Amino acid sequence: MAKSGAGHRPIAPGATLGILGGGQLGRMMAVAAAALGLKTHIFCPDADCPAFDVAAARTVAAYEDEDALSAFAAAVDVCTYEFENVPGRTAEILADRVTLRPNAQALATAQDRLIEKQFVTGLGIATAPFRAVDSEHDLAAALEELGAPAILKTRRFGYDGKGQVRIQPGDRPGEAYAHLGGAPAILEGLVRYSQEISVLAARGPDGAFAAYEPCHNEHRDGILAVTRVPADVPAALEQQAVEAARAIADALDYVGVIAVEMFVVEGGVAVNEIAPRVHNSGHWTIEGAETSQFEQHVRAVCGWPLGATGRRGRVEMRNLIGSEIDTWPAVLAEPGAHLHHYGKLRARPGRKMGHVTRVWT
Ligand code: AMP
Repeated sequence: MAKSGAGHRPIAPGATLGILGGGQLGRMMAVAAAALGLKTHIFCPDADCPAFDVAAARTVAAYEDEDALSAFAAAVDVCTYEFENVPGRTAEILADRVTLRPNAQALATAQDRLIEKQFVTGLGIATAPFRAVDSEHDLAAALEELGAPAILKTRRFGYDGKGQVRIQPGDRPGEAYAHLGGAPAILEGLVRYSQEISVLAARGPDGAFAAYEPCHNEHRDGILAVTRVPADVPAALEQQAVEAARAIADALDYVGVIAVEMFVVEGGVAVNEIAPRVHNSGHWTIEGAETSQFEQHVRAVCGWPLGATGRRGRVEMRNLIGSEIDTWPAVLAEPGAHLHHYGKLRARPGRKMGHVTRVWT
């Protein structure tokens, strides 16, 4: 049976936090955990992953390796993850053996764009108009209903704009469908938005909730480029955005930091995506907020009091993507600029290599 509540071992400084996934999010989470007196044990199939540099223990194994997962679960006091594509069976194996936070339902909901949108609209929260697409015929019918332009997205495994294709008026549905290789998909109507924002929030096992104020996000080539806070949205819209994140977290009985990406549309917000984890658009909180999203996540999954979420000034976070990481000496030389280098060995185009945060108080 899945463990819930306080788990089978008390979480106190000195305990071990298990993290599934070893990318930069796991790395920054491990650093935050260390500051609170915890040890981390990272499970990642890639022996070169950025998080291993800063963790007390590591397991290099496939996410399907049941023996390795069992040994990992036995070695940690509470388990979390830094990416949402954790296979369902992996989550099940872990949840049977150790407290897994956020829970498997949060994962299952956020992993599938159709389930996610049905869940969000079921809470009375707006999303882009959408239709399930399992065949070329479905796509033609969905286009008939929603009209073009529209976006065809795979239901699963999409990130940073991958696994999606825009359909313009006059485009042939067959070509768009073939582009996604026949994977189960959804068609989304194109949202006319003025701004993209996200709400980072945390929920504890007792239902405690704390949100950061919404941040404004700009993407380049489908990848987050810049986050700015404040987002300069009206107070009523900010309240609506935070309430939407809270309703989502409550409905999932969520524990940890959650990121909800939204479009600002006429009359309010429309939810685009839920990330059941710390998020790139929350990196500004490391220097820009009273408590970083990584510390907040650690506090939540350990069942500790949530930290204050106040902002320390006007904040800008810029990703250093691909060869942009080569600017690190200039960033270091700039007074007040905070460099984060993820320690990745190779700077491939489109790869997130680091970020820089500037705070104006
Ligand atoms: P996603 O992978 O769903 O986060 O989409 C990546 C980016 O594509 C978003 O950040 C938006 O800039 C844009 N986008 C996605 N879906 C829509 C939509 N339904 N309408 C307008 N723009 C969209």
